[in-house]
Amino acid sequence: MPEDCIFCKILDGSIPAKRVYEDDATIAFLDINPRNPGHTLVVLKRHAEAIADMRVDETGRLFEAVKKVADAAKEAARADGISICQNNGKAAGQVVAHVHVHVIPRFNNEGPPSMESILQVKKLADQDLGRIADAIRASIGVESYSPREEMRMARKEKPEKKEEKKPAKEEKEDLDDDFEEFSVDDL
Ligand SMILES: [Zn+2]
Repeated sequence: MPEDCIFCKILDGSIPAKRVYEDDATIAFLDINPRNPGHTLVVLKRHAEAIADMRVDETGRLFEAVKKVADAAKEAARADGISICQNNGKAAGQVVAHVHVHVIPRFNNEGPPSMESILQVKKLADQDLGRIADAIRASIGVESYSPREEMRMARKEKPEKKEEKKPAKEEKEDLDDDFEEFSVDDL
């Protein structure tokens, strides 16, 4: 653990914090600069700087804790909604270099409407969207979809030949289902 990590110091008890939850993988405590009452930080116990430094199982454990804290903070603060924010790297506004998730109770009419709305919408041509989608798929290891598949997803149609799903292709088909919730119109 780096000596100057404030979250590691909270973890070892050398800096006090208002702890609200703890399990073997995570700890949650109130942010000392709350954006709203109930603003809580959910922190991985192992010192990892950003999401890229986490193991997949750790991301799962972290979000299990986020779910518990989000439900409880919403109820405790009598909030109308919850924003969940997770920043990685200075470019993204990460201040403490120990991976953490902000859980922020939100109230009607307080604005801004969402955390991502602090960035302006960028108008991207369909071919540019296609290029970035291809790059993300390639990085994850998902095969490119055929133009026909793209059209089907854009129209939000159900997959053809659903009954012929083969076990070997299950993982890809599951991803396929997730992508169905998005269309070019949503972007
Ligand atoms: Zn740390």
